[in-house]
Amino acid sequence: MTDTPTASTKIADFVATLKPRYENPKAAMMPLLYEVQARKGFISPEAESEVAELLGVSETEVHEVVTFYPLLFKRPVGKYHIQFCHNISCSLVGAEPLIDLLQKELGVGPGEVTEDGLFSYQRAECLGCCADAPVMLVNEELFGRLTAEKVKSIIEQIRAGKKPENDTPLTDTDETDDPVLSVNFKIPNAASIKIAESRGAYKALRKAVREMEPQQILEEVKSAGLRGMGGAGFPAGLKWSFVPKDPSLPKYLCVNADESEPGTCKDREIMRRDPHRLIEGAIIAARAIGVETAYVYIRREFYEPGRILEGAIQEAYDAGYLGKNILGSGFNLDIFTHPGAGAYICGEETGLINSLEGKKGWPRIKPPFPAIKGVFDKPTIVNNVETLSNIPYIINNGVAAYRRRGTEKSPGTKLFGVSGHVKRPGIFELPMSFPLKELIYGVCGGIRNGHTLKAVIPGGSSVPVLKADEIDVKLDFEALQAAGTFLGSGGVIVMDDTVSMPWALEVLERFYAHESCGQCTPCREGVAWMYDILRRMNNGRGRKGDVDLLVDLADNIDGQTICPLGAAAAWPVQAMVRKFRDEFDQLCS
Ligand code: SF4
Repeated sequence: MTDTPTASTKIADFVATLKPRYENPKAAMMPLLYEVQARKGFISPEAESEVAELLGVSETEVHEVVTFYPLLFKRPVGKYHIQFCHNISCSLVGAEPLIDLLQKELGVGPGEVTEDGLFSYQRAECLGCCADAPVMLVNEELFGRLTAEKVKSIIEQIRAGKKPENDTPLTDTDETDDPVLSVNFKIPNAASIKIAESRGAYKALRKAVREMEPQQILEEVKSAGLRGMGGAGFPAGLKWSFVPKDPSLPKYLCVNADESEPGTCKDREIMRRDPHRLIEGAIIAARAIGVETAYVYIRREFYEPGRILEGAIQEAYDAGYLGKNILGSGFNLDIFTHPGAGAYICGEETGLINSLEGKKGWPRIKPPFPAIKGVFDKPTIVNNVETLSNIPYIINNGVAAYRRRGTEKSPGTKLFGVSGHVKRPGIFELPMSFPLKELIYGVCGGIRNGHTLKAVIPGGSSVPVLKADEIDVKLDFEALQAAGTFLGSGGVIVMDDTVSMPWALEVLERFYAHESCGQCTPCREGVAWMYDILRRMNNGRGRKGDVDLLVDLADNIDGQTICPLGAAAAWPVQAMVRKFRDEFDQLCS
């Protein structure tokens, strides 16, 4: 133990506030590690021992968590730690030259600290702000739409002891008629409960707890046909119906706010602009399922949305919408936020559950499915932020109103995050089945700088790419599947005619190789191998047979792994090579 007695006492107090949140105290691991990191600057072996003692777990259990997550620092970082995103949406709009510039300005490489201890930087995988690309985090503050001048100015201001000016514009948004999700996006201070209530927040909750039985809520959501908006598209009401009805059995709701699929940046906008919509949706869902404890698992890089959400949760407690006997109904619910630590795989629901329990974010083999055996081995529903945020509208307006837009199987509206080479990137709420072409050329103003469209990834980085002549397609689950791709998370990544597909694929596979949790050999070895081949090709060392080897590897990974990350890494390879084969062959002659 290296801490002073006073500091240790305070840490013990902090642990005491965390433990009641969880059935197993080990689950307090991540928030406690962040607290230790904040106090000591990084997590030393001595700090690991201290955490083990405080939680009553072994040092090995702490060590395996610390070494799994990139945002738990194993060595000192600078007073200002910079994370610069180098994933696809940021790289498309110039991240790499800016990272070179940053490195030159600081005079240190990734992971190093400047001599004066002021700065350190690291390359980051997607920061979940793709429509604001290129982006970087300086400690907890996000700077977007970066240029060389802005990067230089931020560094100069910090060196001069000033708080750097942040002129990142609010993410551009637009909404359909009668919006479901973005109705408050342009309303100032809509995150405040007074403003939210004046615009109808918690009206649906009153109805749900006073006029509806839990089963009625479930049936309403099922009839509405609400689909999971995190990527899988599984019907939400059907998922809820798998939870055992036994009222004596504790059950959990996990809100998946670990938005990490490159190109996806919609949940962030809900949490920072209209958090009460999410909270209300989560309370109604908890009521339907019979849950008394819910967790919002939120990626740590979402500092600002996290703070706003936590403030809104407190307001909801103060107003009697959370806690004991909600609105006099006898229904009790606590909601706690729980931080992630920079691992994409924790967006997969069983990886999320393991991470929440204070373990490595390793996905679990299914079955059992979380609805039967999830958090602390109890029935658990994991729902995405956008999915839950639809519920107040459905309860207030009914099934017919929700189904007025979209198709029979893909009803309602959806938030689409558009990044890359369009004139107007942003987050746009559109009816399901909206034409992709109209999104790109109408809503987003077409391709920037006089270029032409080359390709579009329509649903987050993992889904198969569409060529420019394939974009006459509707944005819904079934239409995109028929077109050989997926709606996924609705993250639309647009690439113009300057983009080399082997380069774009290398950027994507670097991400998946980095994020593989390592449990399955095909994913651990195969994805890293695909990345190595692509790197070699792009560095002028492509070999005869590499393209076929790439496809062979992808085919052998797809469907052979515990979780969908293996397939998510394989699909872009299969589609890009098939559709742009010449570009790959040219690098391997
Ligand atoms: Fe881990 Fe990859 Fe296997 Fe998923 S597919 S469990 S990320 S090794």
